[in-house]
Formats: sequence, structure tokens, C-alpha cells
Amino acid sequence: MANALTDKLSRIVKEMRGQARITEGNVADMLREVRMALLEADVALPVVRDFIARVKDKALGQAVVGSLTPGQALVGVVNRELAATMGEVDESGALKGPADINLAAQPPAVILMAGLQGAGKTTTTAKLARHLITKRKKKVLTVSGDVYRPAAIEQLKTVTAQAGAEWFPSTPDQKPSDIARAALDYAKKHYFDVLLVDTAGRLAIDEALMKEIQDLHAILDPVETLFVVDAMQGQDAVNTAKAFKEALPLTGIVLTKMDGDSRGGAALSVRAVTGAPIKFAGVSEKIDGLEVFDAERHAGRVLG
Ligand code: GDP
Repeated sequence: MANALTDKLSRIVKEMRGQARITEGNVADMLREVRMALLEADVALPVVRDFIARVKDKALGQAVVGSLTPGQALVGVVNRELAATMGEVDESGALKGPADINLAAQPPAVILMAGLQGAGKTTTTAKLARHLITKRKKKVLTVSGDVYRPAAIEQLKTVTAQAGAEWFPSTPDQKPSDIARAALDYAKKHYFDVLLVDTAGRLAIDEALMKEIQDLHAILDPVETLFVVDAMQGQDAVNTAKAFKEALPLTGIVLTKMDGDSRGGAALSVRAVTGAPIKFAGVSEKIDGLEVFDAERHAGRVLG
């Protein structure tokens, strides 16, 4: 499928050769292909529509410079706009580099992990701990507020050990808010730089879950509230993202399972719906399978 798309785009690029400008006429076919590619990559329809409108706006009437054909110029506009939509741009519209975790807080800097069950929160918590230890030389404590699944608490203990971080014990008979207070207190007393708080997920959005994580947010005052979402979720990622965005002031997104066979269209949708920057991509089940998200690199994958 991906190859077919590239073939189609290059055919249109060829057809547009010899034309000096990008016009309504010669752009329509190509935008149709781009639209199809984005839908195939599972980008939500309203996000696709917005995107196509922006590309059209930017491309129309653009004089084609140098040895570029209008087709090549248009591919350039599409790629740049894709990267700008998924990444962060400065005032001049230029793409900024990938964003790492913000730790600008009185230590311990608290990072709250939010997302549905199975999204990859616990795995990502440990991967982030590893990242902060190896790349940022931080002293990291993790804690689980998932009192509904004892296995989840144990899982965090195991992966935290793999990360080389310290794990703060919690038990299913405790209230998540009490766990949060105790972990914060411990982190302060023992001079941790970062406290990573894993939270309970549910299979679907529910009000009790949102209320609980809002309470945790109020108690912990995190410097980062990260929404963890499975890139394979495709269209469903939009509704999940909306619900979490309404409940919490999200500061970043982690897209997990990017090593799967999805084209990663969720990146566009989730970024558009939350307005929060995509900070990391999960690329394997292993402890070091976390990469700082690079919008430019990801743009090529989405288009196929
Ligand atoms: P949680 O319920 O949100 O805490 O999700 P988990 O951290 O338990 O992850 C659910 C499953 O997804 C586990 O089997 C993880 O190993 C797997 N997983 C998480 N992140 C990734 C990733 O980036 N790539 C792959 N291939 N698997 C992942």
C-alpha cells in the first residue's frame, strides 16, 4: 500500500512537470492522493480535512523555484506541513527540535502518567525513568497508584528495577491520594530529582477514573502530565485524547507501539485534539525502547 502511494505521488509529480505554478487544477489530483494516504494511516477525518485545506492554502500560487517541478514543490509543502502539524514550530513557522521532558520545578519534579489500560503507561514509566537516569543523570523514584490491579503494582516494581530506579511501595488497600502524598514526602526527604507516578487505567473512559486522576493532579502539582496512547489505536485515539484533555492540563504525549505496523496517523490526530506536544515514541517492549519524538522523521512514515 505504501509503495503504491509513493508510485502514485511520483506519477503525479511527473504529470505536473513543465508547469510553472501550483494551481487549483494541477493540485487537486495530488491532494486527493494525500487525503487517501492520511485516511489509510488512520488520521481522523476532521484532522485530514483541516490539513488538506492548510496545504492547499500554502501551496496555491506558489512559484516553483530552481529545478523543482510543481509536483516536487507540492510534496515539499505536504511534508513540511505534516512535520509542523505533528511537531512544534516557532513564531516564524520553523520546526523546532524534538522536545524532551521538562524538569524545571523545585525537586522532586513530578511526572504524572495518564492513559487507558494497555496503552503502555507502566512500561513507559520505566522507560522514562531509564531515559532520565542515563541521559539526564537524575535520581528517579517511581510509584504506582493502580490500586485496582495488584499485578500492575508488581509490574512497575519489576520494570523499575530494570531501569535502575527506585520503586516506592504501594498496596491495593491504600487510597491513590494517600499513596501520592506518601511518595512525594519520601521523594522530598531522600532528595530525588524526579517522581514518576503511574496511574490506574481503565478499558474505557469513565468518570471515576477521571476524577481520581484529577485529584492526583491537584495533590502532586506535576511539572509534566503525560498522556500515553497506543499508536495502533488509530481513530479511537481521538476520543480517548479528547476525554483526557478535558480532564487534565496535558503537557505532553507519548505514542507507544510505534514499532507496530500502523502508519502512525494517530500522531496527527492526537496532537491536533490535545494541542500538547508529542514528546516520546515507544519503539519496543524493552526498557530502552523509547525515543524522543522526531516530527520530521515521522512525516515520511505517515505518508507511506
Ligand atoms: P498499561 O496498562 O498502560 O500500564 O500498559 P503496559 O505498560 O502494561 O503495556 C501493555 C503492553 O504493551 C505490554 O505488553 C507492553 O510490553 C506493551 N508495550 C508498551 N509499550 C510498547 C512499545 O512501545 N512497543 C511494543 N511493541 N510494545 C509495547
